Amino acid sequence: MVSRGTTQQSSAPFNRRIVLDVIRRRGEASRKDLIDTVGLSPQTIANITQDLEDLNLIVSKRQKGEKARGQPPMAFTLNPDGGDAIGLSLELNGLSAARVNLVGEMRDRRHINVDLRDPTTALVAMIKQVEALRDNGNSAQRIWGVGVAMPGPFDAPDLSFKGPTVFEKWRGLEIFNALEEAVGLPVFYNVDSVAGAVGESLFGSARDANRFFYLYMGVGLGGALMVDRAAYSGANGNATEVGHIPVVPNGRSCSCGNRGCLETYLSLHALSEELGGGGTLLTQEQIIYRLESGDVRIHDWCRAAAPYLRQVICTIENMLDPQTIVLGGTVPPALWQALVEYARPWLHSVRSGGQDREASRVVVSNQGGDSALLGAAVLPIYEKLAPRVDALTLGRDEGDAERLKTVRRFAF
Ligand SMILES: [Zn+2]
Repeated sequence: MVSRGTTQQSSAPFNRRIVLDVIRRRGEASRKDLIDTVGLSPQTIANITQDLEDLNLIVSKRQKGEKARGQPPMAFTLNPDGGDAIGLSLELNGLSAARVNLVGEMRDRRHINVDLRDPTTALVAMIKQVEALRDNGNSAQRIWGVGVAMPGPFDAPDLSFKGPTVFEKWRGLEIFNALEEAVGLPVFYNVDSVAGAVGESLFGSARDANRFFYLYMGVGLGGALMVDRAAYSGANGNATEVGHIPVVPNGRSCSCGNRGCLETYLSLHALSEELGGGGTLLTQEQIIYRLESGDVRIHDWCRAAAPYLRQVICTIENMLDPQTIVLGGTVPPALWQALVEYARPWLHSVRSGGQDREASRVVVSNQGGDSALLGAAVLPIYEKLAPRVDALTLGRDEGDAERLKTVRRFAF
């Protein structure tokens, strides 16, 4: 399903995003394709494509194909040189950064190990990475902004800034105002699971899925429900925080104050605890090495965690009926693959039955543990590329600036 354009005057930015989105999804599109798909007049489409070419967001070229009569029509594609964005993915003990172009290709990436719990250290580290990536590319190239992905939830007094997955000393997100000021670029931030889902939706495993669920394993476990390329955000932007769903009555104690939460059994933190990390998280390389060398303890952990994965897949499917569930996050895909092997066959649900359906129920992300980083970089680009009905509607209501600000942060 493709969003349709609207002819109201105030909807010009929305129509632009829709046209860009159609071009991104199809890879290339002619004027006629756009007119047929978007449902706007030829003149409006001509104006929009002209605007987008002037902004360097798209380029036109002759379409390949039959040379029956005359020249083949012109087709538009996204311009890979239409500007880059910088993504930062924050974890407790490290900062990954990447410079990504308009079509989702990483031009450059960096990683530093640093304890980000102290906000001043974190701010300095973020500024340094942004500046290094900015100086490193073609300096004439436009940079759309900086996107940051970090563990959530935000603004949930009982859950934010507590426990092993979050930044206890931060106590708030004012740090991003300081970052914006220091680097002179717009800064967008989101929960890592939502950023990752946006990345998958635009450039990854779910680019053809309009309704999918993204299960994110980083230090903790999170999720995002994507509907027509926007994340369902709930009342305060904290929907689908699946890691804190209780799955074992009187089970392991969780930082949220409850017992038996899913992420105390199924997360990088849970795995690292089990393997005796003493508070240190396993790295991607350590996990891959242990899996490949047949380390009994990591395989035992996967076997023990598999029933919880089976359970949450069934819960998500029955609650939300997604086209597919993408397994991603910062853990290596090999860990998900091992878990999936032990968890199969999946339980019966509204999504089960038949070979075709079974094959598409659960897929491991093809982003190789980078979905949050790509998703972070995508946040500023996404501002240009994807139609966001919610933001548009709220934007018309001028008295509601506060809610619009929230949408800018959460409703991707
Ligand atoms: Zn919990």
